[in-house]
Amino acid sequence: MPEDFEHFEPILEMAINRVPSLADAGIQLFFNGPESFTPDDRYLLGETPEVSGLFCACGFNSVGILSSGGVGKALADWIHDGHAPVDLADVDVRRMQPWQANKSYLFDRTKETLGLLYKMHWPYLQYETARNVRQSPFHDRLGSRLIKLAP
Ligand SMILES: Cc1cc2nc3c(=O)[nH]c(=O)nc-3n(C[C@H](O)[C@H](O)[C@H](O)COP(=O)(O)OP(=O)(O)OC[C@H]3O[C@@H](n4cnc5c(N)ncnc54)[C@H](O)[C@@H]3O)c2cc1C
Repeated sequence: MPEDFEHFEPILEMAINRVPSLADAGIQLFFNGPESFTPDDRYLLGETPEVSGLFCACGFNSVGILSSGGVGKALADWIHDGHAPVDLADVDVRRMQPWQANKSYLFDRTKETLGLLYKMHWPYLQYETARNVRQSPFHDRLGSRLIKLAP
C-alpha cells in the first residue's frame, strides 16, 4: 500500500525520543503492507520434512522482530546439534500437513487467526472457520448418530 507518513510520524517521533540516533538514520524502506500469518498463529521453525538440511524460520505472525533473538539462538543450536535445544513442538514446521497449503482453507482460517493473535490464547481452543477440510472416515456415520441422539 502507499506510504502513510501521517500515520507513522507520531510513532517515529517517540522512537527518536527513545533512540536519538534514529533521527539521522534515514528511512531505507518505507513498508506499508500486510504481514504473514499462519493458520494457527505460530511460527514455522526447523528442518522441513520435504527437504533434508533445509531449515526455516518464517511465518512470524507480527512478532518476527520481537522473536528474532530467541529464534536465532534456537535455530542455530538446532542446526548445530541436529535437534531443538528445548521442546519447540508448538512451532515446529513438521506439525503442518500438506492439506494446509489449500488456498481456500488459508484464506478463511488466517483471517480468524489474525483476529485471535491479541486475544487470550486458551488451550484447546477450537477454530470456527475452514472446518471439514479433512474428515474422519467415520464422519458421516458419527454425524448422523449425533442427530439421532439429539432430543
Ligand atoms: C507492516 C508490518 C509490521 C510488523 N510489525 C512488527 C512488530 O511490530 N513487531 C515485530 O516483532 N514484528 C513485526 N513485523 C514482522 C517482522 O517485520 C517480520 O517477521 C520480520 O521482519 C521477518 O524477518 P526475516 O529476516 O525473517 O525476513 P525479512 O525481514 O522479510 O527479510 C528477508 C530479506 O530477504 C530478502 N530476499 C528475499 N528474496 C531474496 C532472494 N531471492 N535473494 C536475496 N534476498 C532476498 C528480502 O529483500 C529481505 O531483505 C511486522 C511486519 C510487517 C510487514
